[in-house]
Amino acid sequence: MGDVRGRRVILAANWKMNQVTAEAIGFISDFLPRVQGREDREVVICPSFPYLRAVKEALEGSWVKLGAQNLHWAEKGAFTGEVSPLMLKDAGCQHVIVGHSERRQHFAETDEMVNQKLKAAVAHDLLPILCVGETLAERETGRTEEVVLRQMNGTPKSSPPAAVTKLVIAYEPVWAIGTGRSAQPADAQMVAAWLRRTVGELFGVPVAERVRIQYGGSVTAMNIGSFMREADIDGALVGGASLSPETFAAIVNF
Ligand code: PEP
Repeated sequence: MGDVRGRRVILAANWKMNQVTAEAIGFISDFLPRVQGREDREVVICPSFPYLRAVKEALEGSWVKLGAQNLHWAEKGAFTGEVSPLMLKDAGCQHVIVGHSERRQHFAETDEMVNQKLKAAVAHDLLPILCVGETLAERETGRTEEVVLRQMNGTPKSSPPAAVTKLVIAYEPVWAIGTGRSAQPADAQMVAAWLRRTVGELFGVPVAERVRIQYGGSVTAMNIGSFMREADIDGALVGGASLSPETFAAIVNF
């Protein structure tokens, strides 16, 4: 499994709206040799939609996986500008980020939409990375658990346990994303442990033991080790620090 937790460590790069073709290809050729021999860890690169194919080709023959940053829930139809789960599969994706806080904040994604996207991902055998996390005001008023539960929107309840087992939950406090101000590992661990208990209450302990929980929010090569020492944190979703092959490789090799 590659880890004492019995869960495979998963490190995902969220490139957001960065990296055009030459940068994306250059990243992959620089990055792959740096992570050679780390196949015990699951590593996922999530470029923007237009570069999925190019990155897939650059990853050919390697164990590093391709993911997308978003999806629509319908398979096809009159949804101008959207990308369907079928298209993501066709482009070679195995993972997809769902409900990132930037989508919720700037593109008015509701919990209901996130839930539909999650179901669509599971139905198409795309491994979803479901992002949840509170704002600073919500944290300061003691509402973290309430908010995170609402963001999950009964998701586990409406999915078969086998699908829940494959789910990756990324706990990303909004105030820590792109700010250079990461959460304290012990605080992130408290939320991760609570998330796991919640999944356990809904689906039983064996399922909860297998669900992987990432921390996200200003992860760097310097602080990844302290998050990975926490018992319920199984990996990281990395934004800014994933744009440099050297830095992201250092994170993968923590
Ligand atoms: C993210 O976009 O999911 C993220 C965690 O960003 P950053 O690492 O830049 O805070």
